[in-house]
Amino acid sequence: MPNARTKLFGVIGDPVGHSLSPVLHNYFLKKYKLNAFYFAFRVVPANLAACVQGAWAMGLAGLNVTLPHKEKVVELVKFRSPEVNLLGVANTLSMREEGVAAFVTDPAGFMASVQPLQTHFSESRVVLFGAGGSARSVAYALSKMGARELTIVNRTYDRALQLSRFCTEQLGFRKVSILGMRDPALNDHILGAQALVNATSIGMAPYVDYTPLQDFSAVSQNHFVYDLVYNPVWTVFLREAKKNGAKVQNGLDMLIYQGLESLQIWMNETYTIARNELNALRIQLSTELQS
Ligand code: NAP
Repeated sequence: MPNARTKLFGVIGDPVGHSLSPVLHNYFLKKYKLNAFYFAFRVVPANLAACVQGAWAMGLAGLNVTLPHKEKVVELVKFRSPEVNLLGVANTLSMREEGVAAFVTDPAGFMASVQPLQTHFSESRVVLFGAGGSARSVAYALSKMGARELTIVNRTYDRALQLSRFCTEQLGFRKVSILGMRDPALNDHILGAQALVNATSIGMAPYVDYTPLQDFSAVSQNHFVYDLVYNPVWTVFLREAKKNGAKVQNGLDMLIYQGLESLQIWMNETYTIARNELNALRIQLSTELQS
């Protein structure tokens, strides 16, 4: 039962009705025996500033921030982590007495999700589909894991160019190439890469028949293929890559670990999740997706 000391957490976004965050975080709150609840709040862009200010004034314990607010919210807070300053996006707000502090937990979530394979990325060449906020976070995480060359594949050239400049100037990538989604050179880049990452929303429900890559002939057992999309759990991108023998992974673990990282920030505590519990949580989240 809630009492006067119960903490309130939540996610703000628009839309937010299909967010898995309430299921994920209420699982954590129960598991770590915290006197707290987590809710989803639909906040339209025009109300974002009032929401952030109101959440702080009411003493909410913390908020996650999802689309379309991840960039805009950065301007609305008093404190920003160095990663928020670098990446220009935030997905976690912590309410401090002196004001709201913003963090971004996607890079840590991505790194934790590939933890058993981290060495695979050392000195690697990666083909990254997408140039939005999460592609930026993934590029940063890849650079921290030692990736050296990047091929950015994106529909909009200007956005890819911006990310490419960021990757060479701020993240220290040795070489960054930009390709269109149907560029004939894409297969050569795939052949020379160790990993492919989809950080676009292509393939996400309800558009489950789409894939950012059309020709999978260059994908093989030499590749690690990662899709940030987790709804559906098996995207066409992952299914086709797996058929060719690639090791594949979806975005569910990234979601779990970025959420855990948010909780650690809010509570200023370290929490762990055992392998068998991780599996149970994956199943619970997948079931929620199908409901
Ligand atoms: P975003 O900033 O809006 O970027 C979207 C990206 O997808 C852009 O590169 C965009 O290309 C591309 N795109 C979208 N629709 C397209 C289409 N029809 N054809 C070609 N390209 C298209 O979004 P984001 O925050 O980076 O999120 C991207 C995906 O990552 C989403 O599916 C999100 O759910 C997922 N994600 C997962 C996690 C996780 O924990 N697993 C965390 C964060 C995000 P243009 O530049 O051409 O528009």
